[in-house]
Amino acid sequence: MNKLEYSYCELPSAFYSKVKPLKFKGASTFLFNETLAKKLHISEDFIPSLLDSPSEALTEIISPFAQGYAGHQFGHFTMLGDGRALVLGEVVTNTQRFDLQLKGSGPTPYSRRGDGRATLKAMTREYIISEAMEALHIPTSRSLAVLSTGESVFRTVPEPGAVLARVMKSHIRVGTFEYARYFLDVEALQSLLSYAIDRLYPSCKNANNPALEFIKSVAKTQFELVADWMRVGFIHGVMNTDNTAISGESFDYGPCAFMNQYDPNTVFSSIDTQGRYAFANQGAIIQWNLIRLTEALLPLIDPSEAQALAIAKSFIQGFEHEWHRIYQHMMAQKIGFTEADQETERLVHSLLKLMEEHGTDYTNTFAGLCHSIPIALSPWEHAAFMEWKKEWNSYAKSKEITLEERKQLMSTRNPVIIPRNHLVESILSEVEYWGKDTSYSTRFNEALAIWNNPYRYDESLIPWMTPPTAEANQAHQTYCGT
Ligand code: AMP
Ligand code: MG
Repeated sequence: MNKLEYSYCELPSAFYSKVKPLKFKGASTFLFNETLAKKLHISEDFIPSLLDSPSEALTEIISPFAQGYAGHQFGHFTMLGDGRALVLGEVVTNTQRFDLQLKGSGPTPYSRRGDGRATLKAMTREYIISEAMEALHIPTSRSLAVLSTGESVFRTVPEPGAVLARVMKSHIRVGTFEYARYFLDVEALQSLLSYAIDRLYPSCKNANNPALEFIKSVAKTQFELVADWMRVGFIHGVMNTDNTAISGESFDYGPCAFMNQYDPNTVFSSIDTQGRYAFANQGAIIQWNLIRLTEALLPLIDPSEAQALAIAKSFIQGFEHEWHRIYQHMMAQKIGFTEADQETERLVHSLLKLMEEHGTDYTNTFAGLCHSIPIALSPWEHAAFMEWKKEWNSYAKSKEITLEERKQLMSTRNPVIIPRNHLVESILSEVEYWGKDTSYSTRFNEALAIWNNPYRYDESLIPWMTPPTAEANQAHQTYCGT
């Protein structure tokens, strides 16, 4: 393995706290992502041996740290920080610098009243979802391994404990900038901005106004990310500013889920009682989060407060238009057009309305436009949908776009397979038995292979495409958590 680096620790020391992972005697690998490990040159025994009995030589070269940050949680500002995570170090490949992070490895100075631990079920869920997101071609943190700690973690009942090793281009969040602005000074804020630009957006360095250019770049990657979530029916569930990564990667898969039946107001997280982070609200929320980033960077936009405010105000007015453009572009492609225009917007709007009225399955409705899936799963033989299809075909004809061309594009934008909650939950309910009976881990490996190949269709996939009954879907919404 290459030596771990610590470029983040060149920032002022208030940005992090050095902290060691707890020792877990008997820690063992539960899941291991060989492909990712190869890419990063990390061996399978590295993390288990670090948790179980690290050698002196290893302890000497590793200097882990927990990151300090703040954030708006459900609209309320608060001081946070890695309460149960730490960055082991940075892995540098030929093309990219990554954070290698452990989650669930014990308390840190930011733990507040938390125990610093994680459960095997929740970390396995994060492993499944993050790897499925990668296969769906959505920027995401990656899961390298789940380690079983051998200890019990108390939630509502005692549960097996685990540590997740995850990898991300950077864990800097909107909340890291809020922390610098409201708890540190302008010099600290400037050093964080320079660091984030160097590491993630180097082209902003020579702009007339680097702070503004940086916000513009972050907005673009975040709008593309959230549009991508909506492309596959994904609901993050906790889009707090501390969970919005500057790198534009999705991460912190807590009470997230993929929508079955189309309803723009779908919420899965039981803590989101107001529906703040509902499916169709995600575009408005990401704009809200980026306004918090802009506020945090005001002193670096212009030294005069009045001038900075004036610039920022007119700048953030562009967010709505930019979001609309990116979202409509994505939706136009979902119905087979490379570019959006007024007519694709109208077609998308009327299709979504139909889907909502008829309560059709989000994934299968779009999959049914590009593959011959069984009519039991797809609404396309229904009169209202056939009527829509006529309009869709006649517009494509006027643009001289063939059905084949549309299908080709659509089959790269519309997944056939998403990790449906009822199936994920069914697999997770068996997690504790894996070590005891290989048939359970075989079932898991089969599921992972299916979820990691989401754009292909054949008949054998029908059980994986079938949505749960309405009651099962409803039940899931109330208990899905971390
Ligand atoms: P999340 O909603 O998972 O992003 O977590 C919000 C904050 O709570 C972060 O600062 C976490 O580090 C912290 N946190 C969550 N669970 C725990 C835990 N079991 N122990 C300590 N801190 C935690
Ligand atoms: Mg978080």
